[in-house]
Amino acid sequence: MRRPLLLLAFTAGSLLSGFSAQAQKTYVHCGRLLDMRSPRAQTSMTVVVEKGRIVAVNPGYQTGAASDKVIDLKNKTVLPGLIDCHVHLEGETSKDNFLKEFTENPADVAFASLEHARKTLLAGFTTVRDLGGSGVNTALRNAIARGQVVGPRVFTAGKAISGTGGHMDPTNGYRQDLMGVPGPADGVANGPDECRQAVREQYKRGSDLIKIASTGGVLSVAKDGSGAQMTEEEIKAIVQTAHDLGLKVACHAHGPEGIKRAIRAGVTSIEHGSLMDDEGIKLMKKYGTWYVPTITAGKSVADSAKIPNYYPPLVTPKALAIGPKLQDTFGRAYKAGVKIAFGTDASVFRHGVNALEFQYMVEAGMPAREALQAATVRAAELLGQQEQLGTVEPGKLADLVAVEGDPEQDIKVMQQVRFVMKQGVVYKQE
Ligand SMILES: [Zn+2]
Repeated sequence: MRRPLLLLAFTAGSLLSGFSAQAQKTYVHCGRLLDMRSPRAQTSMTVVVEKGRIVAVNPGYQTGAASDKVIDLKNKTVLPGLIDCHVHLEGETSKDNFLKEFTENPADVAFASLEHARKTLLAGFTTVRDLGGSGVNTALRNAIARGQVVGPRVFTAGKAISGTGGHMDPTNGYRQDLMGVPGPADGVANGPDECRQAVREQYKRGSDLIKIASTGGVLSVAKDGSGAQMTEEEIKAIVQTAHDLGLKVACHAHGPEGIKRAIRAGVTSIEHGSLMDDEGIKLMKKYGTWYVPTITAGKSVADSAKIPNYYPPLVTPKALAIGPKLQDTFGRAYKAGVKIAFGTDASVFRHGVNALEFQYMVEAGMPAREALQAATVRAAELLGQQEQLGTVEPGKLADLVAVEGDPEQDIKVMQQVRFVMKQGVVYKQE
């Protein structure tokens, strides 16, 4: 195998010149193309890219003027750029994560996030939904969009929202004199009025969507991981305010009661859904709610919990009990016909191995093609970006990835992405 050739544009200058206005076209020769709209793979195709967009997709291998570029992917399968609908680019799992809250400044978080963003993009994920951080995630989104740093296109929820002591309370587990009284601006809201304020705070700070937690969570330093933590009235206030502002709502939920309250209140997606019962599955279908399973997160927290003292004592039993449930819940939801978009919760495990999720989805009974659709055309739909992303067709942004072999036959090849183009700029070519 050839040594990886990283063609990269790691400096702002060359990133910007990647979009150079000389109307140069790039002809991408695709041995196989899974455009995610045709019923089957096409062979020997050319994707023509100009100014960051796909302008044509034609049969055969075409070339243009002498000044145009040709990229040879004749021995690879080309797909649309992948979309992970659930990541946290600010952080990454480690044994001392809880301590870091007391030692790291926002600038430390920002520098660490650059590496997470870079790994995510080079793994083929050209777009992500960042479902919660401190606000550094919003600055990171902007820096990537300006071409100052390398990373996926980010849609960010800014700071996620829950009630006092809930999964998103940033002071859970602190010594009492350090807890303070975090409020709506810190993502802690009690009662419908504060919930509305918390949404407006995120809107004001430039969040692209709202993330809430209607139940406890595994990794928060709190006793309960699955019980309901918001009233249906509170969730309704959040959804209505968010919709007024043009924002969708993603809801973290593990236990069945919190899942049902969130669905009835009109959230766009349920994240994790670990302990979802059949009634919850029926409600998801009735309301057209999306499910973002994050099976990789479930498996990896259960694995980490087996390492002595990896997590604080309150967290370990939750990780062991809830984590392993996800794959089975996903299988049941898929078979029942729930709408599924790909999401991993990368940060709970290391960034850049997001494609493991494909394997877990296929193991649970989803055909490879549908798993690939969940990370492309379906994810674009969840984001409301179906005009820009998710398929290889004229008019869409030129986000392309390529792998060896045929992912419809062997989904594991998605874990070795060889080529990454985001908006017409090549970031990886091996
Ligand atoms: Zn998460």
